[in-house]
Amino acid sequence: MISKMMPSELRQALNKALEPSTDLQDPKKCKHKRKAGDNFGVSCLDCGSVLEGYGYIAKRSKTCIHKYVLTENISKICIYCEDLSSNTL
Ligand SMILES: [Zn+2]
Ligand SMILES: [Zn+2]
Repeated sequence: MISKMMPSELRQALNKALEPSTDLQDPKKCKHKRKAGDNFGVSCLDCGSVLEGYGYIAKRSKTCIHKYVLTENISKICIYCEDLSSNTL
């Protein structure tokens, strides 16, 4: 029977297990070895720092850490927010 209410202690333990890790490393000390990325950006899994773009799953940051790439017509564009670099080469 899975319709039974869970004992509150078990439910608390489960909630805790589902929470994002609370013992994140200090970003200043972290070497950002474990990274996760998607179309929105890249974040460090160990300290939670946004490393590129808006961070993994666009959750961490409201501003984009631009990562510019050269396009075929030799202009620089951010791969995450598609901002065109104002810097000319
Ligand atoms: Zn890190
Ligand atoms: Zn950007």
